[in-house]
Amino acid sequence: MRNLTKSDEPEILKQNADIWLDQYLEDKNSSTKKYRYRHKKIKEALKKETGHKCVYCESKIGHNTPGDIEHKIPSSKAVHLHFDWNNMTMACAECNRRKNDYYEDGEAFLDPYIDDVESLLEHHGPIILWRIGQKRAEITVRILELNSFRRSSLICRKMEKIEEVCNLAERLSSEKNRLLKLLLLRQLEQMKDKSSEYSAMVISILKTRGGGCEGTA
Ligand SMILES: [Zn+2]
Repeated sequence: MRNLTKSDEPEILKQNADIWLDQYLEDKNSSTKKYRYRHKKIKEALKKETGHKCVYCESKIGHNTPGDIEHKIPSSKAVHLHFDWNNMTMACAECNRRKNDYYEDGEAFLDPYIDDVESLLEHHGPIILWRIGQKRAEITVRILELNSFRRSSLICRKMEKIEEVCNLAERLSSEKNRLLKLLLLRQLEQMKDKSSEYSAMVISILKTRGGGCEGTA
């Protein structure tokens, strides 16, 4: 997970959120009224804000990893936040399914827009753990199973990323050509960017391995 900043509310939502909510509350069986938050412009704004990634596991939302708009506080617990911009983000289907309608006051999931999630979580290879004593971080990791073999396809993809970043870092440490060195460094910097897949893990690996990665993390 990366710390995120909430972007400006899209005009379409600003103008319609209250109306949409009233209409939905009057007719809760209508899926048209329920899913109006899936408007193209809203989805686009959220994808831009999250780097086209699931905010929880940092997988890119796409063909391999489908995703959708996620309510941080689920509508089943706070229906008045159903069209609330600050309550919306992006999550992949795997994280979304596991979180389901979990929400406990005071024991909520980590919120990457509010909490310093980058300091509350630890990356051990492809596995995510919580900083000792951080209950909400532990709840988040355990419910999403980010520490478990049950997320095997996620773990496999992260292992490929580890291989890639380590190979690049080793190339960087042995490369003599100045231009190539610069290009390799640039590629590593890109992999650490918030918009890149599994960037929190990449940063952690570059920090702990040192060697060719020195000065890059
Ligand atoms: Zn996810």
